[in-house]
Amino acid sequence: MSGLTVQLTAPNGHTWSQPTGLFINNQWVKSSNGEKIASINPSTAKEITSVYAASEQDVDTAVKAARAALNNPDWRELPASERGRLMTRLSQLIDENKKTLATIETIDNGKPYLVSLNDDLTEASETIRYYAGFADKVFGQVIETTPDKFGYTLREPVGVCGQIIPWNFPLAMAAWKLGPALACGNTVVLKPAEQTPLSILFLANLIVEAGFPPGVVNIVNGHGSIAGAALASHMDVDKIAFTGSTATAKHIMKMASSNLKNITLETGGKSPLIVFNDADLEQAVEWAHIGIMYNQGQICTATSRILVQDEIYDKFIAAFKAQVKNVSKVGDPFEESTFQGPQVTQAQYDRIMSYVNVGQSEKATLAYGGKPFKVADGKGFFVEPTVFTDVTSKMRIYQEEVFGPFVVIARFKNEEDAITMANDSTYGLGSALFTTNLTRAHRVAKRIEAGMVWVNSSNDSDWRIPFGGVKQSGIGRELGEAGLAAYSNVKAVHVNMKSKL
Ligand code: ADP
Repeated sequence: MSGLTVQLTAPNGHTWSQPTGLFINNQWVKSSNGEKIASINPSTAKEITSVYAASEQDVDTAVKAARAALNNPDWRELPASERGRLMTRLSQLIDENKKTLATIETIDNGKPYLVSLNDDLTEASETIRYYAGFADKVFGQVIETTPDKFGYTLREPVGVCGQIIPWNFPLAMAAWKLGPALACGNTVVLKPAEQTPLSILFLANLIVEAGFPPGVVNIVNGHGSIAGAALASHMDVDKIAFTGSTATAKHIMKMASSNLKNITLETGGKSPLIVFNDADLEQAVEWAHIGIMYNQGQICTATSRILVQDEIYDKFIAAFKAQVKNVSKVGDPFEESTFQGPQVTQAQYDRIMSYVNVGQSEKATLAYGGKPFKVADGKGFFVEPTVFTDVTSKMRIYQEEVFGPFVVIARFKNEEDAITMANDSTYGLGSALFTTNLTRAHRVAKRIEAGMVWVNSSNDSDWRIPFGGVKQSGIGRELGEAGLAAYSNVKAVHVNMKSKL
C-alpha cells in the first residue's frame, strides 16, 4: 500500500524499502487513530523514520486475524512437514536478506554492524531453521494402561500467542519466539519494542514471501503501555510470551491473569561471574570482558557482577582494566573496528549515568570510565565502559540491573563465600565460573541459583540449549526442545475398548 513504505539509506550506503505500517493478515495497514512512533538512530539521536503505532482496537483486529488463521484449514490442516518447509524457507530468506537486516538492526539499535551481521542474523535464521526441523517431530505418546483402554496423548498448539519483544536483540528475540510457536502450529500477534521496530517490520515481508497463510503471523508495532498492554490483557489471546524488564513482567503477569493465559517470561538479571584462584586468568579476563561489554552491556544475561578470589583480585583487576582499554573501542557502529556502539536510547544512557552516581555515592571505587563518550557531534548515546571495584553485596550497584557496559567487581575468600555472594540476588538468570578444578566446577554449578551456568565461558546462549531464569529472572524456558513445551498443550485421549456399564 502506498504511504506504508519508505526508501531509506544507511550510513554504510545500503538502501532498502522500509515498511512502516501494521502487518495484519499479510497486509500493511495504518493504525486506526493514525498515531506514529519515531524510530531514533542512537548514534545521532536523529529520527530514521516513523512507523504506525497500534491502538487497542488495532491489537484486537490483529488478534481476530490470528484467531481466524488458527481455525483456517490452510494452517490448521497443513501437514506438519509443510509447516516445517515454510519455516525453512523463511530462514533462507533471512539469510538472503541478511545484509539489509543487519544494516537495519545497526541503524535502529546501535549495535556494531559486524555483530548484527555475524551474531544476530545467524541467531535469527538458525533458530527458525532449528525449529523448522521440529515441526513434524512434536507428537504425543501411546500410554500403556489396561487391555480395556487405549490411551494416547496429542500435542496441540496453545492457540493465539501474543509475543512481546525487547529492543536489545530485536530480530533474534523475534526468532526465539516465532520458531517454537510456528513449529507447534500456533498463530501469533507479535509486538516489537517501540524503540527498535524496523528490522521486524522488514521481516514481515519475508513471512509473506515464504508463503505463510494470512493471519498466521501479525506484527503490531506500538507502545508497551498501549499495544503491549492490550495484547497481555486481551480475552482471546491464549498465551503471552515476554522478554524485557522484571518490572514490566510483573504488570504483564497481572494482565495475563484476566483469562488465565499461559505465560513465558524472560526478564532481568544480575548474573555473577566467579573467578577462582586456580582459573586460567587470561581466559577469565577475556570472557569476563565479553560477558558484560558485548552488545553495549544490553543483555539480560550479562555477567555484570564479577566475583574474584582474594589472592588474584588485584591481578585480575589490572588485567581486566587493560582488556577494557584495549578491546572496548567505542565509536560509530558502522566502523569495522568498533566494539561498542551507542546505548539504544537517551533513557538507557541516562540510566547508566545515574548508576555511576549511585556507585560513587556508595563509595565503591570507580576504576574505569564512568563518563559520556563523544562521537562526531556528540549527540549520540555513547558512554564509556565503566568498572567499579571494591564493591560489596549491600550496595545498590551490586544488586540492581543497570543494563549497560557497567560492571562491578567484588572479592571473596573461599568457595562457600563465592556461592553465598553469587546467590545474594533477587535474580537468577545466567552465571559463570572459572576454575581448572573439574569437581569444583560441577559442585558450584549445582549450587548456583540460576537458569544457566557457563563453565569457563560466559553469555554462551545457543538455540539448541534451553534458556531462561529462576527467581525474578523469569518463568519457563525458550530455545532447545524445552522451548516447545511453552507452545504446545498435551491433550489426553482415553478410548474405551471394552468396559460396558
Ligand atoms: P525497557 O524498560 O528496557 O524498555 P520493557 O520491559 O519495558 O523494557 O520493554 C520490553 C517490551 O515490553 C517492549 O516491547 C515494550 O513495549 C513492552 N512493554 C512495556 N510496558 C508494557 C506494558 N505495560 N504492557 C505490555 N508490554 C509492555
